[in-house]
Amino acid sequence: MEKIKLTRTTNPRPRPNQDDLPFGKYFSDHMFLLDYDAGMGWHDARIIPYGPFTLEPSCMVFHYAQEIFEGLKAYRDPQGAVRLFRPIENVWRMNRSAARMGIPQVPEDIALAGIHELVTLDADWVPSSPDTSLYIRPFIFATEPSLGVHASKSYYYCIITSPVGSYYPNGIDPVKILIEEEDVRAVRGGTGMVKCGGNYAASIRASSRAEDEGYTQVLWLDGVERRYIEEVGSMNIMFKIAGEVITPALTGSVLPGITRKSCIELMEAWGLVVTERPITIDELLVAADDGTLEEVWGTGTAAVVSPVGEITYGGKTYVVNGGGIGPLTRRLYDELTGIQWGKTDDPFGWSIVL
Ligand SMILES: *Cc1c(COP(=O)(O)O)cnc(C)c1O
Repeated sequence: MEKIKLTRTTNPRPRPNQDDLPFGKYFSDHMFLLDYDAGMGWHDARIIPYGPFTLEPSCMVFHYAQEIFEGLKAYRDPQGAVRLFRPIENVWRMNRSAARMGIPQVPEDIALAGIHELVTLDADWVPSSPDTSLYIRPFIFATEPSLGVHASKSYYYCIITSPVGSYYPNGIDPVKILIEEEDVRAVRGGTGMVKCGGNYAASIRASSRAEDEGYTQVLWLDGVERRYIEEVGSMNIMFKIAGEVITPALTGSVLPGITRKSCIELMEAWGLVVTERPITIDELLVAADDGTLEEVWGTGTAAVVSPVGEITYGGKTYVVNGGGIGPLTRRLYDELTGIQWGKTDDPFGWSIVL
């Protein structure tokens, strides 16, 4: 692997107040950049001061959205060291997304070294207040200046980082979700299982409508029959029904979350039965009515685990677990955050100390 060239900033950015860190608003001093050109491959790995790109208006990403991204965090542990959580999983997923979107894959060692070296250089941007972290956003986009519809001949792989506050500044508050009956997020054969900006663009209208009506998130049904539950907002979803944990199987339209995978591995280690299978909205509502629906929660890097307190479908609202956080949801949250912030043992070796 070629060495990553470093150009340090001469103009450090002002440090935000650690007690007021809205998601994705402040960015650290540096960014990582890697170029791709057809015939040359990926080249010129560098860390440079954070700042704007110069791109032509014809740049392909603006027109045909050939773009993918990742999201992970760096955590400050009690000893003051900085930790990453399963970063190689993000690199693997990014390369699976790249394959689906016709984007050349980034060699794993460069993709990972970019994350490690950028976070190490900007380590003093990893906040230390309780439950804060440094959000890391790797992304790849098509840069060729051309309106012809084909795979771009050039790309940027860029990484930026942003200090973020606690997802739950007022304690864990179960969310109210609305089952979306009109729009769909993804279909099998489409791009639901990859992390691409286009999926998000298509989901914004439903999210805005739900927010206007006082809900926190949208629950997505499958794009063909609108019967099977897929995800909640930009999180995977899990249910505990009559003692069994159920989560939608990864059939192609569901994003394979790393938090999802980690929760499944933890619960299996605890001796719980976790079933990955299709689950219909009817099955969920019957369980809610007959009292066997014990817990519902979303999983994702931003919130870790997010309890669902209310589900609304066709104008009727179903309350889950009395609107509170259930014991299994709480246990998953405590265990995962303990490992991520280096406060508890890490029997799986998920935490990487930089
Ligand atoms: C990123 C994402 C998730 C969660 O993935 P994690 O790796 O757990 O953060 C779930 N659903 C969608 C649609 C996503 O984009």
